[in-house]
Amino acid sequence: MNQHLAETVSFLERLVSYPTVSSDSNRLMIADLAARLEDAGARVELFETPDGKKANLFATLGPDVPGGIVLSGHTDVVPVADQDWSSDPFKMRRADQRLFGRGTCDMKGFIAAATVLAPEFAKQPLRRPIHFAFTYDEEVGCLGARALVPALQERGIRPSMAIIGEPTDMRVIEGHKGCCEYTVNFTGLEGHGSSPHRGVNAAEYAVRYVTELMQLRGELMMRAPQNSRFEPPWTTINVGRINGGVAHNVIAGKAEVEWEMRPVQDGDADLVNSAMQNVIDRDLLPMMRAISADADIVTHVVGEVVGLEVMEENAARDLVASLLGANGADVVPFGTEAGLFQQMGMSVTVCGPGSIDQAHKPDEFVSLEQLSICLDMLERLGRSPALLDVDD
Ligand SMILES: [Zn+2]
Repeated sequence: MNQHLAETVSFLERLVSYPTVSSDSNRLMIADLAARLEDAGARVELFETPDGKKANLFATLGPDVPGGIVLSGHTDVVPVADQDWSSDPFKMRRADQRLFGRGTCDMKGFIAAATVLAPEFAKQPLRRPIHFAFTYDEEVGCLGARALVPALQERGIRPSMAIIGEPTDMRVIEGHKGCCEYTVNFTGLEGHGSSPHRGVNAAEYAVRYVTELMQLRGELMMRAPQNSRFEPPWTTINVGRINGGVAHNVIAGKAEVEWEMRPVQDGDADLVNSAMQNVIDRDLLPMMRAISADADIVTHVVGEVVGLEVMEENAARDLVASLLGANGADVVPFGTEAGLFQQMGMSVTVCGPGSIDQAHKPDEFVSLEQLSICLDMLERLGRSPALLDVDD
């Protein structure tokens, strides 16, 4: 094992040991990353949430000029509750050529590799900066990146490219769907199960809502763009959780539906959201309120992540493809923070070690081979004319 790979493995073990589930603080992990980047000579800035529980990290190596590249990763991981792990998910375990642990592929492996190489980057005569953007709350709607992007704009920080190191098996990705997540709360009127007509059954209205939602699927399939490269090619809807009521013989007073939509194009999300709002305003609420004036349906937007639009010209995609010797780029069906950086005017590609097949699952892993391909790519990036030459 070469030195950078060995260092990455041991730093990844450290990062995995921080249980940075999205609901919990990421501050200890951020502090560790900040210290390491500062040691490498980077200028590090933290952007805290108002309650101070979480923070984004933004760090820069090289000159304080526009352009350059952002290496971006999220520090949070999905929960391990109710998952059947073979060993402690926050204690990295190596078996054969694989490293097991929560976050190993999604996406602490990339963060470890990028951070371990910071001293190498610092040795290069960089004419353009290399930035590090490590965010919180990606898994619950890209909340960290949503806060970071305007903060960077305010400071006049204008990188021209970004690599989002989500697990793509180190394939170069140039596009992905958006991801919109909603929680809908139904408030009805409780009562005895023997007199359903005297109450407003929140669970039943949740079912009506879900039925309407499912009916939009056909329309979304019809709207799939002809040249769509996504699999499936249309905007999808998934109902992830339904909860409501207390017992067989009680009219359910409350219910909750969690669902998501992954738009392939501009307009689909608006279509679905306005259709569902219509169903609520025209059909469901009037029926509920005919029995109880306090009945209500409230839709909470958990996150609305924009897609990464495929662009004919994409310098980040071309650069990473050339560093990897890849020909061509793909699209993926999962969402990342990439679209937010793209909206800021950067060219963006998604490319990172490990497979999305292992992300969010028990016994998540990243292979040593994937980490080593990632390290090679990043090392070449540090010596790339795109960062060393004066000319754009
Ligand atoms: Zn991820």
